[in-house]
Formats: sequence, C-alpha cells, structure tokens
Amino acid sequence: MGESVYSNYPPPLNPAQKAFLVTTVKDWAVQNGLMVRPAPTFVAKESNPHGVLATNAPVTLFPSPFPRTCFEEATALQTVYNQLLIDVDDFISRLWNVHQSVKNEGYTQTLSLGLYRSDYMAHSPSDASTPSLKQVEFNTISSSFGGLSSLVASLHTELLDSPPGHPIAYPSHPLFESNVPPENTAVETLSAGLATAHKAYGLSKSTPSLPTCILFVVQENERNTFDQLALFKQLTKVHKLPVFRLLSSQILDHTSVQSSNPSRPLIYRPPHSPESQFEVSTVYLRCFYAPSDYNTERDWEARTQLERSAAIKCPTVLNQLAGCKVVQQVLAEDAGPNHLASFLDNTDPHVMARLRKTFAPQYDLSTNGRGRELALNPDTAANHVLKPQREGGGNNIYKTAIPEFLNSIPESEWKRWILMELITPPSEAKNVALRSDGEVLGGDVIGELGVYGTILWDQAGGKVLHNEQGGWLMRTKAKDVNEGGVATGFSSLDSILLF
Ligand code: ADP
Ligand code: MG
Repeated sequence: MGESVYSNYPPPLNPAQKAFLVTTVKDWAVQNGLMVRPAPTFVAKESNPHGVLATNAPVTLFPSPFPRTCFEEATALQTVYNQLLIDVDDFISRLWNVHQSVKNEGYTQTLSLGLYRSDYMAHSPSDASTPSLKQVEFNTISSSFGGLSSLVASLHTELLDSPPGHPIAYPSHPLFESNVPPENTAVETLSAGLATAHKAYGLSKSTPSLPTCILFVVQENERNTFDQLALFKQLTKVHKLPVFRLLSSQILDHTSVQSSNPSRPLIYRPPHSPESQFEVSTVYLRCFYAPSDYNTERDWEARTQLERSAAIKCPTVLNQLAGCKVVQQVLAEDAGPNHLASFLDNTDPHVMARLRKTFAPQYDLSTNGRGRELALNPDTAANHVLKPQREGGGNNIYKTAIPEFLNSIPESEWKRWILMELITPPSEAKNVALRSDGEVLGGDVIGELGVYGTILWDQAGGKVLHNEQGGWLMRTKAKDVNEGGVATGFSSLDSILLF
C-alpha cells in the first residue's frame, strides 16, 4: 500500500533540471556550512598541505518519503528510550575496568548527561499492509549529524518553495503539494542538553573559584568538524557559554584534576592562553567510541582522568556501555527474565509494549542457543546481520557471509557478536545524491531515520532532571550497500517528507 508512494518518486529530472539542482545544492552547502573536510582519497595531502579545504557533505537532491505513523511513533518513544538506559548502567557495571578503578576511588560527580540518537527503518515486508517502526541501534556516545541534518531539512525546505510562491526548482509531484520536512530542532535540543548540564554543575569547586566551561573532546583528523561547530555556535551565541574543543590526544597536556581538592574539579588550560584557567562543567565526547581512539596507554589514562573528575560526562563510561549492542540484544529478548520491564518499572505497560514492538529479534551466540543455529545455517543467516558488541561502524557481517565468517574465527570469540534479524525497508525507494567528491549518483536507496534525545539524571537516586526529544536525521544509502555510516562514506544526508 504505502509502497506506491515510492514507485514514482522522485520525479525524473531532465539534464537542465539536474544541472540546476546540483549547482544550487553545491552553492547552498558552502554558503550555509553543510560541509565536511575532504577525504584524503579525494584531495591528497600534497594538494591541501595546510588543511584549508572543505567540500559539501554528501547530500540527497530530494527529501525522501517517510511514513508519518513511523515518524510519530519514533518521536513519541524517544523520552522513554532516554530513560530506559539509566538503570541499564548498573546492570553492566562489572564489565569495565575504568569504571571499576574510578568506583574504587569513589565518583565525585553523580550527574550524568546523555545525548542520544535512536536509529530506525520503516520495516515494510511484502506481506505487511502498513510499515512499522524497527530500531537499528541506539547510540549513546558521539551521536553525530544533528548540526548538518538540520541544515539539510532547511535546504530541502527552501528547494520545495523556490522561488517562493512559484516553486519550480523540483519537477512537480503530488508529494510536494503543501508539504515540507517536519521542523528539525536537533541543534537546539542537543545544545540545550549540554547547557542544562553546565547549569546543573553549579558553582566552581576550585579555590580560588574559576570560570566554568564546556569542553568538546574530539578526534585527530576529524572530517565532520562543521557538524560539531553547529552545536558549539549555538552554545556560545545563544546560551552565551564558554566552550572549547580539545583533541583527545591532548587531554593530559592541557587538563588536570586537582587531587588536593576532594571534589576533583577538572581544570582546563587552553593551549593558546595557558595562563587562563577554566573549570570544566561538562565534557562532551565526540571521540573514544572506537578501539582506534585508544592507541596507547595514554589514551586510556586520559579517559580515566575525565571519568574520575567532577565534570559531568556526556557520556560516562557506563552510559557508553549501555549503548553496546549486547545490551540492546538483552533488552530485546522476549524469553527469559523481562529486563525491559525491570528497567522501566514506572512505565505504562501500553507504552512498554510499543517500545518492544520497535525491537527486531536479536540473539547472542551461546552454545545450543537459537542465535547459533540461525547464524550457522546459510538459509537462515541470509535474513540476518552479525554485529560486534560495541559501536563504531563498518564492522558488521551480512547475510550468507555469516556462517563462513564464524567458522573462520575461534569459537571462543563468538560471544563478542550478536545476531540480528534484518529489517526490510521499502523496496522501491529511490533518490539522487551529490557526493562529497562531486559525483552525482541516482538509484535504489535505503533510508535510516535517527531521532535525538537528551537526558540529565542523578545516578545517586536516579532522579531525572531533564528529559527531552527533539530533532532527527535521515541518512540514505544505495540499496546494494550493507553498511550505513555517512562518516564512513556509505550514506548521504537526507531529509523527509511525511505521507
Ligand atoms: P554501527 O553504526 O555501530 O556500525 P549499526 O547497527 O548502525 O552499527 O549497523 C550499521 C548499518 O548496518 C546500519 O546503518 C544499517 O544500514 C545496517 N543494519 C544494521 N542492522 C540492520 C538490520 N537489523 N536490518 C537491516 N540493516 C541493518
Ligand atoms: Mg549505526
């Protein structure tokens, strides 16, 4: 039924229309900061020795249709999802050494900030008359693209009404009639979460007291700088807060924890003004989510320094762990102990049932388990994806490659993977994308909708001080590609038109 929306979308472009759209999108991207740093495979280091260049983020020329019911369900459930992970923290607390060592010493900060993104697809198997919402994963660390995705919604909204009142930028199509992408408040929502944490931190704990600041900790060679800067700008211009960016490799050089002070405030000395000192209220991590972010012992030491300090961490080590796929798998289990219910004991059973409906079946690979059986049989493996427990991107094994892969690694390592049933996105969806290297590619696509949420809670007692949903991200990838990340080069940023 819903499929018919996709069958004649997007309207075909003649060469002049396509050239006009591509030029318009390219210029709009530069003018408005819808940009990324170029990949070294596109612009070689020799051609850009001083790193001055940037290029458009990969972006679709058209917004993609998305079922209204699925969008509304995703936004309605976000604050419930935010809350779900509070207690999961405790549940997995034994898994992590860093946490253990800080715990032995005692945490000095009980507040915890989450900036989350829950990713979904509109599950549309051929035997279903209406699409349903299914979760791909839940991100608890470095949930990115809030900054750029709001820009894509603005770009497509402008194109839908260009020139104003007499739109002709796009060929006409029924879906375009008095329809624009829903409001996208990702920048406002994510920044408000950080600002709320900053405020909740309160006065300086140092003697003499220091001005407080927010610290973004970022990766070396980050290409997605402008996405981060959108939040940075909102915090400095609208919330009027001091914000700094620091490379994770420089944490130990420019921050310190005053050990003589039992509150353990985190002091930041900006490299460009070492005589200035700030006390960090909130650490926002846009790094430390993948093993490649921990190259040496020094990186672990740096993470531990942040963790044991008084700064509010976004996220804490525990909250990062709560986003691991193995936790999502356990929560999604409908046999055995009902973990979901035990973590949401004050939640309306009806809402809990709606949450559960968004889970696709997921399994561990324990001996004699159902997961193992499904993964090793090529016929059933074909309908599954195998994921490593942690986040990071680009590491999944798909479909019939699963049995072969498992047989190539020692059985003792199988416990590091979870098996998930494939979600079936609408089969006829199409779009056209302008890639960062200027290539324009059209064809069959798969869309993944992310919904942002923020939560600030007190781990001592679990009191929630702030819990908000706001903003979304649509990423669209070519259908013949399994992986989905924009940063990894597989997807393009997109927006949505609800139907
Ligand atoms: P990560 O982003 O940490 O690599 P994801 O769980 O998001 O891990 O998986 C990466 C990509 O694989 C997704 O963006 C999506 O395109 C695809 N994918 C993951 N799980 C499923 C699933 N159950 N059904 C269909 N596609 C999936
Ligand atoms: Mg993902």
